[in-house]
Amino acid sequence: MKAVLLTGPGQPFQMATVPDPTPGPGEAVARVLACGSGLTIHHARAGRLKLSHYPRIIGHEIAAEIVAVGAGVTDVKMGDGVTAYFYFNCGHCHWCRINRETLCENFGGYVGRESDGGYAEYIKLPSRSFVKFPEGIDWRKNPAEAGVITDALATPLKVIRRARVTPHDTVVVFGAGGGLGIHMLKVARWARAKKIIAVDTSAAKFETAVKCGADITIDASAGRVAEQLLEATGGKGVDVAIDFVSNASTLEPALASLGKGGRLVTLGGSGKPFNADPAKLLRDEIEIIGSRYATRQEVMDTLELVARGEFSALVTDKAPLEQAEALHQRLEKELIIGRAALVI
Ligand SMILES: [Zn+2]
Repeated sequence: MKAVLLTGPGQPFQMATVPDPTPGPGEAVARVLACGSGLTIHHARAGRLKLSHYPRIIGHEIAAEIVAVGAGVTDVKMGDGVTAYFYFNCGHCHWCRINRETLCENFGGYVGRESDGGYAEYIKLPSRSFVKFPEGIDWRKNPAEAGVITDALATPLKVIRRARVTPHDTVVVFGAGGGLGIHMLKVARWARAKKIIAVDTSAAKFETAVKCGADITIDASAGRVAEQLLEATGGKGVDVAIDFVSNASTLEPALASLGKGGRLVTLGGSGKPFNADPAKLLRDEIEIIGSRYATRQEVMDTLELVARGEFSALVTDKAPLEQAEALHQRLEKELIIGRAALVI
């Protein structure tokens, strides 16, 4: 099969022909129709994230069709339309059993890092890593839009639940122009947030941010973000700040912009500490919340909501396998608004 190989950290992709995967016991093989190209996997291409094994086929936001199943597989069958659950979790530890498998005690890594992923004509995974598309998602006709749901929309759905967004809440999204940020705006709109504010350093992305649900846009490159957010809320402060950038230069203004009962949700980030004023945390009963990917149920819930037309994915850049490197160059330069995907 044709595949896009990552041969080392920061190395350009190489097109290659590799043996077709065959399923062992408990495994299934799917023909890939499309695979999303988000920042999470771009960090591996750019070398900011080192993989345990090279060469590696990256990618996890797939739309695919099951074409072979190994011995003992009963949960998927030939012809099923599937996407992938991004995490390899054990399924039997405390956290897996209470439906919080992103905290799995025996975490086995990620599709497209610890196993080969979707930047290829076929993908082999344990059958339980595949999640079937519900009726109502036309994965054959729109594979790119179907494939990215598992992360680009499921991650925001979880954030809405973690932050308990209600119709009374003003929500601000930091990094609103990125692939996850744009989808966060859409899901916050769907959740009937009272007012949605998009913060980004790239004003070119604001038109799309408004189309996807933002009521107000704030250009962070001009500074004074917390002040602008307080002005935008009449001095009251925002209820929920969602930070996809998550370094001190975003987390600190996000926290400062929160009003009484405010919730700050952090996703990703530099890993460096930031300053928080405990007096404000106490006085205003502020919550700081981490949110990792989504549970299987949240992926399935998101698929169901897309199938019913509640919201949809925005894939703005599509390219064939052969153009993976050029697509990732555009990702590196932050030129992509919404999500990019390879269509195979
Ligand atoms: Zn577990």
